[in-house]
Amino acid sequence: MFSITPSGLDMNNERRAKMPFLSDAEILITALDEYYRESVSAEKPAITQQPLEKIITDLKLALYSHEGGLTGERLAEFIRDYLCTTTRLHHPGYMSHQVAVPHYAGALAALIDTFTNNVMAIYEMGPGAASIEYHVINVLLEKIGWEQAPLNLHDVPYSRAYAGGVLTHGGSLTNLTALITARTKLVPNVWDSGIPQDLAILAPAESHYSIARAAGILGIGRNGIYTLDVDETGAIIPDKLTLAYDRMRADGRRAIALVANACSTAVGIYDPLNEIGDFCNVHDIWFHVDGAHGASALFSKKYRTLMKGIEKARSITWDAHKLMRTPTVCAALLVKDHRDLDAAFKQEASYLFHDKEQPGFDFIHRTVECTKAGLGLKFFFVLAAMGEQGLADYIDRQYDLAKKAWNYLEQLDDFICPVRPQSNILCFRVDGDDVMQIRIRDRLNEQGRFYVSTTSFMGTRYLRLSLMNPDTSMQDIQDLVHNIRLIREKISGGSKS
Ligand SMILES: *Cc1c(COP(=O)(O)O)cnc(C)c1O
Repeated sequence: MFSITPSGLDMNNERRAKMPFLSDAEILITALDEYYRESVSAEKPAITQQPLEKIITDLKLALYSHEGGLTGERLAEFIRDYLCTTTRLHHPGYMSHQVAVPHYAGALAALIDTFTNNVMAIYEMGPGAASIEYHVINVLLEKIGWEQAPLNLHDVPYSRAYAGGVLTHGGSLTNLTALITARTKLVPNVWDSGIPQDLAILAPAESHYSIARAAGILGIGRNGIYTLDVDETGAIIPDKLTLAYDRMRADGRRAIALVANACSTAVGIYDPLNEIGDFCNVHDIWFHVDGAHGASALFSKKYRTLMKGIEKARSITWDAHKLMRTPTVCAALLVKDHRDLDAAFKQEASYLFHDKEQPGFDFIHRTVECTKAGLGLKFFFVLAAMGEQGLADYIDRQYDLAKKAWNYLEQLDDFICPVRPQSNILCFRVDGDDVMQIRIRDRLNEQGRFYVSTTSFMGTRYLRLSLMNPDTSMQDIQDLVHNIRLIREKISGGSKS
């Protein structure tokens, strides 16, 4: 019945009946191990897009959800078929989105999290998970250069300023939480009185859409976002910060925060944090750095200078599930002063943990979520497997690769890059209009050997690489260029005839 027999199937039925978890887990891990091998070797495509109806039918979803019994040999078959429907991030042709190619250690941690299900927003529901979250936040705080949160919580007066944070289910939620924190700081009675009409956010147009979405959720609205002036790479121009600021003041508004990118989503360019931080200091504006993607440069000796001035921020968004090889999701909100975050959702938050006799630390007052997954273990397992230096080497490699690829593309007459990359994000276009770029991407994805994305930057459509995969090499980039040229010739030839 099966062409390949995963080792889990060798177990006799009796053992399987006695130890269903162990035997099914063996089937699963064996299948994933094979999946990894055929992905990394590019034996199977990076992307395949089967129709939804076909997948639902082929996987017999209705049968299993109705009747159950997905175990043993049926499970083996199901996993094998399911894995064929996946987009393969471990494939070296995976170059599209800023999603981590996860280290397997993080996936093992995810299994522990989901098996134990310790929702740790209150300490007693997961002391280990909460402690690990506390620890990994401190690891990140140290990289920023802020004072770590104390371990002897009950000996340190609450009134003392030190840094802190919380892990959330993604950078978008982290940005929202940061802006909620900033809003409460500026308008402490907002939770009772509702939102005043004069609030604003200062941000460049290159910001991630979650900022505009947060502005909507916060009741500030898109019209309350004052767009900062940027240069031709999309980076904020420090000398022109006053323009948007003066416009905002002339409208009689107050900024809850100024948002800068480290780095921008579309082209991966870092805003000059140091100068922006000074501006925010002078005008007493909450400085939020959206480092969802690029804050990980802080691990790298070579690239941490891109983050110069980060310590001047009041809050930072930093995703582990992007450049830190951690499976989705694990995003950190970090604040310079823990008291701001503790007060974010409610003014008198301190009683929640400081008047408590119990040991530990509750994160619940720092988050939108109530049932909050343990998110720290995945990140910790990756760190503990790779070590900080291993992670730094990975980041250096990916950033270096983008630069090498840019150098290569710059020499080609038919390729144009809008900016010299600062991170592992590289945009380019080939001869032809916007529609040509999109058609090329569609054709590439149909072929499946490469999976790339596109982006709109300064009103022009570009092909976009996010070089997340540690196995992607210059050879892959050259092969990609070769493929793109073939596709383009075909398209232009076809449209002429
Ligand atoms: C990816 C990204 C986000 C969104 O983070 P999610 O974890 O995908 O929700 C926000 N800001 C920037 C700059 C990003 O690159």
